[in-house]
Amino acid sequence: MRGAVLHAPGDVRVEDRPDPTIEKPTDAVIRLAATCVCGSDLWPYRGIEDVAGPAPMGHEYVGVVEEVGNEVRDIRPGQFVVGSFFASDNTCEICRAGYQPSCPHAEIMGTLGAQAEHLRVPLADGTLVATPDTPSPDLLPSLLAASDVLGTGWFGAVAAEAGPGKTVAVVGDGAVGLLGVLAAKQLGAERIIAMSRHESRQQLARHFGATDIVTERGDEGVARIKDMTNGFGAHSVIEAVGTQESMMQAIDSTRPGGHVGYVGVSHDVSLPGLPLFFSHVHLHGGPAPVRRFLPELIDLITRREIDPGRVFDLTLPLDEAAEGYRAMDERRAIKTLLTP
Ligand SMILES: [Zn+2]
Repeated sequence: MRGAVLHAPGDVRVEDRPDPTIEKPTDAVIRLAATCVCGSDLWPYRGIEDVAGPAPMGHEYVGVVEEVGNEVRDIRPGQFVVGSFFASDNTCEICRAGYQPSCPHAEIMGTLGAQAEHLRVPLADGTLVATPDTPSPDLLPSLLAASDVLGTGWFGAVAAEAGPGKTVAVVGDGAVGLLGVLAAKQLGAERIIAMSRHESRQQLARHFGATDIVTERGDEGVARIKDMTNGFGAHSVIEAVGTQESMMQAIDSTRPGGHVGYVGVSHDVSLPGLPLFFSHVHLHGGPAPVRRFLPELIDLITRREIDPGRVFDLTLPLDEAAEGYRAMDERRAIKTLLTP
């Protein structure tokens, strides 16, 4: 089969990879209907994260089940499924508490390489959620978004305790930040401030429910958020970047007693103890437990109440994955959908 492989920073190639097979009795193999490039794929692509030799890429996927192992009970061949970027058993105490990426049996889907024609999914019953019917093709981008970016933005909003009466600020205007806006809106937030300096991203943020746009960043951005909130800061702040600057911008924009939901993959972030101590801010985040939210998100999408697939502003054949990475790296595209 064809699949994207990262050889070195900036060097993504689509080449022949071995067809995945059932390796464990709890596995499924799916034929991908769509896959995509994640903002987090750009960390190794840019050489900020080490590239471990030729590495299969991709961890976002929707598709049709082709084969299941003999211990798979609920997932069946022919079903259309959406999965999380972490495989998990969904039965242990940690999974049942809603923290599937920390499942003791969790496996990172990225190492299996979802930017491909086929994918082996471990722990199929715990990891995959079947859609009610085979979805119409126009729903594919939104269902694919549920596999990671929507679920991640949603977790950011939940962790930030976005809800009725709350002012929510969102740091980061990538796909996750934009879908954090959508999530905050769905959760009933009163005011949603998107922090973005890009016209097209501001428009999408407004489409998803942003009521205000702040173009300043860093300390100036913090000052603007305070100006807009009686000097207090936002109740809820979603951090969707993962750098020192964005994390401090998020914490400093939050009012005492407020909540930061941090979902940008943390890179060289270190938090100063004393300011944090006196901030009275709650911090919660990490790799999103997408599996927790998938049934609800699939329901909202198939009932056409949300359209998170609008974050895909570039669609390319899988064979042109390299251009998909370049476009995102150069910020010409918010997010690239790849069709196998
Ligand atoms: Zn578990």
